[in-house]
Amino acid sequence: TAQIIDGRSYAAALRAEVRERIAMLHGRTGLTPGLAVVLVGQDPASEVYVRAKGKQAVEAGMRSFEHRLPSDTRAENLLDLIHRLNDDRQVHGILVQLPLPAHLDTRAVINAISPVKDVDGFHISNVGMVGTGQDAIVPCTPLGCMMMLRQYHADFRGMTALVIGHSNIVGKPMARLLLNADCTVMVSHKHSTNIPDLARMADIVVVAAGVPGLVRAEWIKPGATVIDVGINRIERDGKPALVGDVDFENVRRVAGAITPVPGGVGPMTIACLLANTLSAFCHQNGLEDQPLLMSQQDPK
Ligand code: NAD
Repeated sequence: TAQIIDGRSYAAALRAEVRERIAMLHGRTGLTPGLAVVLVGQDPASEVYVRAKGKQAVEAGMRSFEHRLPSDTRAENLLDLIHRLNDDRQVHGILVQLPLPAHLDTRAVINAISPVKDVDGFHISNVGMVGTGQDAIVPCTPLGCMMMLRQYHADFRGMTALVIGHSNIVGKPMARLLLNADCTVMVSHKHSTNIPDLARMADIVVVAAGVPGLVRAEWIKPGATVIDVGINRIERDGKPALVGDVDFENVRRVAGAITPVPGGVGPMTIACLLANTLSAFCHQNGLEDQPLLMSQQDPK
């Protein structure tokens, strides 16, 4: 049976590393990294994420600035706020919690963030740089997946990966990072008709589809590493439960290593946000940005 990849303990290690680095840099320079989180409207899941991000930023020794705007906020007011945060020297990372209310143009809002402060890595300039293998801010969820994969695979050359899901926030950047690391990468999505066959060829399967139980044991090459990004709220035996996109109980019998849900990718995502904010802070202050231990080497 598979090794369970303990995202909680990796995330705790990464947070501890970020905290120590911040304390050290603060001692040397008197400066403190700041993370601004903007929430428009009252989506309950977004509320939970925003609170967790603020809390963990403070625990890591950062300043946290939360900006809550009403759901009928006009585009120009949101853009004004982003421009102010771009100019604010106490703010090194800016994150606009998605999804935005439908009347706002998400692309325009994200691209208004200064690319050096875009700690989600969604700005077109960061996307383009990651796509061309340049130094850039990498989106948190795929970055966390890469960090966990690197604990199990020192070298992706000669390996084959299947990414299931091709969203801009998970699937596509995940595929690019694996490709940058010289992995052979297949990308699939809801219009793909041969996913089981592709999966059987894969040494690494990363799934971010939002479909509970999608990935089945028969699809998995024995010994493969399975990373489950999915977060689905379902009802099981009349009780609410949180599950991923993988049929965990059966897949774990075939896979070599697997992330659980909860306790896998989820905790790493916020820890990577803190790591991205620390690098953005270093970059903006001309401080040396040593790669964090957990990340080993960032894939370019
Ligand atoms: P999305 O809805 O934007 O994209 C879903 C992708 O999956 C699309 O590319 C779609 O074509 C594909 N897909 C849908 N059904 C499929 C099927 N039956 N077979 C193959 N592909 C299929 O979602 P997203 O934002 O990329 O998120 C995906 C999942 O990951 C969700 O469950 C989300 O909650 C979760 N998520 C988790 C984290 C985390 O930190 N753990 C972060 C982001 C998203």
